[in-house]
Amino acid sequence: MNTGTTWQTVSTSLENTAQLDRTVGSNLKGGEVIELVSDLGGGKTTFVRGLAEGMGSHDKVASPSFTISREYKAGDLTLYHFDFYRLSDPGIVANELAEVVDDPKAVVAVEWADIVEDVLPADKLTIRIKTTGEFTREFTFAYSEKLQYLIPENT
Ligand code: ADP
Ligand code: MG
Repeated sequence: MNTGTTWQTVSTSLENTAQLDRTVGSNLKGGEVIELVSDLGGGKTTFVRGLAEGMGSHDKVASPSFTISREYKAGDLTLYHFDFYRLSDPGIVANELAEVVDDPKAVVAVEWADIVEDVLPADKLTIRIKTTGEFTREFTFAYSEKLQYLIPENT
């Protein structure tokens, strides 16, 4: 059953996107799971960078493509950044993911989550990013009601 709702916005520049990402980051309380969906170069990792900034983290955000997961500290919260790009078997990392999605002091952001979809909770925010031009992106947020406080429009 889908009790979720959606919100859409467009970004016309990197700075525009950074503002959006930081706003979502500043709304986080811990315990949230964010799934990022786009083509390569759509802006998933860029989103996590702004998210970390918005959470007040000073850690450097980079693509975890080779390490699969990264952690950034933000006050008493930890942002876990997963990227399952081109992995056909998530292996032990799926266990790590399952653990952190239940941690109220963790925020979890996942790129290329298809192979771990069953590990993600029903209450999550899914952000789809569509590339509409070199510097323009269309964002669609799909979220369960419980997470509506994350949506920039509502804050
Ligand atoms: P992904 O993780 O989805 O593969 P990245 O975040 O690594 O994508 O790359 C997105 C690229 O798109 C970056 O090089 C970024 O500078 C560029 N870009 C240009 N305009 C925008 C925009 N408006 N929003 C987000 N990214 C943008
Ligand atoms: Mg990426």
